[in-house]
Amino acid sequence: MIASKGFAAKSAKAHIEPFTFERRDPGPNDIVIAIDFCGICHSDLHQVNEDWGPSIFPMVPGHEIVGRVTQAGAAVKKFKKGDLAAVGCMVDSCRVCASCKSGEEQYCDKGAVLTYNARDKQGNPTYGGYADNIVVDESFALKISPKLNLAATAPLLCAGITTYSPLRHWKVGKSSKVGIVGLGGLGHMGLKFARAFGAHVVQFTTSLKKTDDALRLGAHEVVLSTNEVAMRAHAATFDFILDTVSADHDLNAYLNLLKRDAVHCLVGLPDRPAQVSAFGLLIKRRSLAGSAIGGIRETQEMLDYCADHNIVSDIEVVPPSKINEAYGRLARNDVKYRFVIDMAAAR
Ligand code: NAP
Ligand code: ZN
Ligand code: ZN
Repeated sequence: MIASKGFAAKSAKAHIEPFTFERRDPGPNDIVIAIDFCGICHSDLHQVNEDWGPSIFPMVPGHEIVGRVTQAGAAVKKFKKGDLAAVGCMVDSCRVCASCKSGEEQYCDKGAVLTYNARDKQGNPTYGGYADNIVVDESFALKISPKLNLAATAPLLCAGITTYSPLRHWKVGKSSKVGIVGLGGLGHMGLKFARAFGAHVVQFTTSLKKTDDALRLGAHEVVLSTNEVAMRAHAATFDFILDTVSADHDLNAYLNLLKRDAVHCLVGLPDRPAQVSAFGLLIKRRSLAGSAIGGIRETQEMLDYCADHNIVSDIEVVPPSKINEAYGRLARNDVKYRFVIDMAAAR
């Protein structure tokens, strides 16, 4: 076994504190990554707080992982010692169902093995990236470009792919008018991608003070979603709206902004179910959809796209000693626009 030093919540809602544990011995298809940086996703906070139901404790959160390969098993093809490598939200899946075969492992019939707060095929708990290392099958590890800032690349592994995938799936491009709801970790990446794909992009926010940042990050227009008049001015004009909001909010106000046959896609995961008016949907045959992260092939495509187009996340780097402070600020909607933990500082 490999001795690992990490940071864990020992019980629901507990502070994150130092934690030692063991990773499996690397097999022939595994690589060992010395983790340099790990992003803090709002999903980490939801799961520590058990917003979505019971979690597994102790929990080492973290699924926006970047670092360098320190060991590569005999059968490993993609990586060698010293290479940059990354891990996102999944570390395994059944690999034989229709979703896995088509590269959509996140929709695996058996359920993908998530990077933390899950159990692997042997029934052992998985531990995430708030740690000094991770052992992972190379099939679930990604290549990253040395051209990009390494710390700012970490959030691409969740915030990046979770917004890239639905924008691609619903074919957002030059002729699209797209709305991004919520300017946080996911939202600011959705904004960057929608702009890069050539769409006309409207950022919806509840935070007036984020207006200048939204424009700097690529929005053509910014709408304060609490302003009903400003909202109504966009009625029935959107081709696609990507909703990244982490808390309960009114979806009907957004459904009314969709054109005929247009889609409101949820990627945010509030703890409570939403109330939706059937009228808002059927009047223009609108759709309410959802999307989960993205498959490994598409995650690599997104990382390559980011390297080609010089896209990374806007980040605040924090040492491990400030994880709890960062959680508090994330809960208060005070981050520009993703915290990334400097894991190398813990070594
Ligand atoms: P985040 O950085 O906290 O951003 C969430 C944004 O939502 C905030 O910046 C804020 O934007 C807005 N917001 C927060 N509270 C609100 C409220 N009460 N009413 C309206 N708007 C509110 O979080 P994140 O890391 O981007 O994650 C967002 C959500 O996506 C979380 O629920 C997370 O679990 C989920 N997620 C899903 C997937 C997936 O596979 N689908 C993957 C990763 C994360 P403004 O200040 O601009 O209003
Ligand atoms: Zn995430
Ligand atoms: Zn499968």
